[in-house]
Amino acid sequence: MKKLHWFNVSSIGKPLKLFVTFALILTVLFITYFTYLKPKPSPTKVPFQHRIFDEYKHMSHQETPFKGAKIVHLDLKGAPPKISYYKTLFSLLSKFGATGVLIEYEDMFPYNSPLLKNVSALNAYTVEDIHYINKLALENKLEVIPLLQTFGHLEFLLKLEEFSELREVPEYPQVICPTHEKTLSVLMEMIDQVLQMHPHSKIIHIGADEVYYLGFCDRCANIMNKFNLSKNMLFLEHINAITTRIRKKHPHLRILMWDDEFRSFSVKELKSGFLDKGVQPVVWKYSKDVYEELGPSLWEMYSEVFPKVWIASAFKGATGSNQYVSDVTHYVQNHRSWLSLMSEYSHRITFEGIIITGWQRYDHFAVLCELLPVSLPSLAMSLRVIRGYQDSPLSPPTEVAKLLGCEQPYALIGPVFGSPKCSYTGGDILEGALKLQQLKQEYETILEDSRVKGWMSDYNKNHQFSNPQHVQSVTAPLNRIKGELMQLDGEMTAAMYEVYDNYTVSEWRETYIKPFEREVRAMVDARDKILAKNYWPRRPLLQDGDEL
Ligand SMILES: [Zn+2]
Repeated sequence: MKKLHWFNVSSIGKPLKLFVTFALILTVLFITYFTYLKPKPSPTKVPFQHRIFDEYKHMSHQETPFKGAKIVHLDLKGAPPKISYYKTLFSLLSKFGATGVLIEYEDMFPYNSPLLKNVSALNAYTVEDIHYINKLALENKLEVIPLLQTFGHLEFLLKLEEFSELREVPEYPQVICPTHEKTLSVLMEMIDQVLQMHPHSKIIHIGADEVYYLGFCDRCANIMNKFNLSKNMLFLEHINAITTRIRKKHPHLRILMWDDEFRSFSVKELKSGFLDKGVQPVVWKYSKDVYEELGPSLWEMYSEVFPKVWIASAFKGATGSNQYVSDVTHYVQNHRSWLSLMSEYSHRITFEGIIITGWQRYDHFAVLCELLPVSLPSLAMSLRVIRGYQDSPLSPPTEVAKLLGCEQPYALIGPVFGSPKCSYTGGDILEGALKLQQLKQEYETILEDSRVKGWMSDYNKNHQFSNPQHVQSVTAPLNRIKGELMQLDGEMTAAMYEVYDNYTVSEWRETYIKPFEREVRAMVDARDKILAKNYWPRRPLLQDGDEL
């Protein structure tokens, strides 16, 4: 088949030729106008940041807001803030539009009975601290929902020798054995103590996510065999035992639990009568497209079984176990996708509330992920989405910057306008984390450079045998990076002490600053050794002890 070329004029008719010529003339006129003739805007003396704020002020608009409870998860299994920080924190949460907090104490709760006295961390909050948290929550109109794990993720309890006999798998301190004779009494004692400290709470969350080892031990296997129970039924049986006991003592309480174990259930199993009808599942998903990942069959099933459900999104701690800066775009997208899912199913399911999770570790043993003050812009943005605002990267939400006292809009666009310089307590921690990210990126760029790969390999370093020109040029920024890193260490330490105790400050430095510092130092040393050479031996290069 003959190919027609677009400017092959001989192949087109006369009217079309005229049209093409006319279009070309118009295009030339258009370009001339916009290049030379269009009036230029007069230069303005308004500071840059204000221009950005004003320009986009009217671009945020409101969609249908979510009407249910908006609960922020405080994960205290890592980096528990000093009690003095709660005043700042709760006031901000309230201004962001949160209606409550889900407090996951883990080992930060002051367990006080002889049985449980070793469960608390050595730096756990005191009874007075918790009274103060309750008081501040009340003042800021935030309802408090305590969370206590009752099945999986009981590492903080089962890691201890005295509770090791309760492990489902002896080597792994994650899951408690539901059929051990002491299990229920230990769990109920913990629940009672937590509820006693929260007399005004109307809801309790009993966790129960990621129960990886169910029905593994001989005791459970025997019981499953004897009563002809599936693993799913064993799971429900344990949850039922807990909820029945809670209801007996606290009939007014609503009980929430994570939903993930239910996802592999059938409607028949969920309706078998084993599950407390009052339990409300919290359907959690932290990805950008929750609809795609959870799938419609899950909602079909839940709409048949649960008249009311909660959902859980995330504002931090869900994109990598060692992230130290939040990917705000990811979290905002997560919330947008939840909003559209809820609007699709709202005629069949009542969505009671959203829990905006902020994981501080992936589990009790994992490193710290994004610190709370680093992720406050992400939280503020997430709550804006839930409240119906549709911000885009082109419309930095000036309200968030104003609430957090930031000089530059930051959240959605990252630090493209320079560092945000926010004045809220903990704003300097955000500043430090962003600086560390920038230094690490600069260092990674050096490592990726072909001059490092080709002339600073382990072989080059071991033999101090390399091309000094390439080594010198590629490592030129190293001294500055090393200096800035040392300065950052000092600044970050000071900033963190405003919010955290010395244990958290040391842990964060040991996790994120010190290994990087060691790496940069080793690179500087290797560079210096290579550059100290002025003469080089004949090949082959020999190791100590080698003979030709
Ligand atoms: Zn067992």
